[in-house]
Amino acid sequence: MALKFKAPRGTKDILPDEIAEWRLVEESFRKKCAQYGYREIRTPVFEDLGLFERTAGETSDIVQKQMFAVMPYGLRQQFEDERWVLRPEGTAPVARALLEHGLLQQLPLVKVFYIAPIFRYERPQAGRLRQHHQCGIEAIGSLSPLLDVEVIALGFDFLMSVGANGFVINLNSIGCLNENCRPRYRQVLIEYLKSREAELCEDCQRRLQTNPLRVLDCKEEGCQAVVKDAPISVDFLCQDCSEHFETVKKGLDELGIRYELNGRLVRGLDYYTRTVFEFVHPKLGAQSTVLGGGRYDGLIAELGGALTPGVGFGCGIERVLLVRQANSQTKLEDTTVDAFIAIASPVAENLAQKLLYELRAAGIRTDRDYLGRSLKAQMRYADKLGARFVLILGEDEMRDGFVTVRDMQKSEQWREPFDKIVSTIANALSERILTKT
Ligand SMILES: [Zn+2]
Ligand SMILES: [Zn+2]
Repeated sequence: MALKFKAPRGTKDILPDEIAEWRLVEESFRKKCAQYGYREIRTPVFEDLGLFERTAGETSDIVQKQMFAVMPYGLRQQFEDERWVLRPEGTAPVARALLEHGLLQQLPLVKVFYIAPIFRYERPQAGRLRQHHQCGIEAIGSLSPLLDVEVIALGFDFLMSVGANGFVINLNSIGCLNENCRPRYRQVLIEYLKSREAELCEDCQRRLQTNPLRVLDCKEEGCQAVVKDAPISVDFLCQDCSEHFETVKKGLDELGIRYELNGRLVRGLDYYTRTVFEFVHPKLGAQSTVLGGGRYDGLIAELGGALTPGVGFGCGIERVLLVRQANSQTKLEDTTVDAFIAIASPVAENLAQKLLYELRAAGIRTDRDYLGRSLKAQMRYADKLGARFVLILGEDEMRDGFVTVRDMQKSEQWREPFDKIVSTIANALSERILTKT
């Protein structure tokens, strides 16, 4: 039978067997964020196109090539003026929401985190999806370099906590908009790139005028050869940016967080200022960035708010899972139920049903047979669901007032009176539940 539909190219279903891994990552992230004083925020999956034009930059790849438009399909002619797109990154929507609801006025420093799907039209390849998932944080309201340190430390702490260790932190400062800072560097960089323009790819020849820093990011071989000898931004920082960067480095040193200075690191978005960083993992191949972020002191003003500095990161959950795999972390699996009620005779039906709901009410994950199969088939099914206990109810049991309990783990079997069964199962499981958390 040929299936009529498949998940769209570049997307992935996350199946029940994978959920334990996802929940480990998401719940560890929530826990870390809480420890660092960050609260969760959730924004719509689609936003006004202008939000990203304004922040990521009209000339960025994201805006020019990678966004999905959203419109009411049947009315698309009437909706030509509406410009909604699926969220291609996490920071701008959060900044938009904080501004819209006045949260930046209520608190001098707002710290939030999100876990959200991100949509980008990409050529699908290993480690690159058209819908992927990110967990990220934003800390908005302070210029302190120690806040940059905190953001990097949270990322570090989180990845270590889920067994995604082995990454390298690349660190750079791309300066500020002060005319003796990035604009001066930009000029020097343009002059250098022009001297070797013929060696650059077509995209970079265009970027040379619109956004020369992006050339540093280009993966084309010719461009990388040119970039190798290019001047680097840290040599052109203004006094303030230079001091800021020194304090960030010192703060990381004091926490024992190792990093490598990388003068080519610029990140793909226009709104970054000063500190930028990427956590890369050598085992991930071409798409090796697991987590990336930086400071964005101009972003809030760009969206019409007061000049408010901020810093944050986004982390790809799929890539964290790949790193766990590459590190040979044991894949987490969860059983479906703790207890299964096998019904060996129709006379047991009523009691089985009652017992089912009593066990569930006691917090025990329980299921029953609904297919009227043989006892043997029911036992096999219970085993597939990972049930620790199978409770068998048949004619003998009904007549003598007991349940036959089989402990699938210990391969033991015994008889338990009706009125004791719920507490016995609950007690036996509580040991396991305690050790689980
Ligand atoms: Zn500066
Ligand atoms: Zn290039």
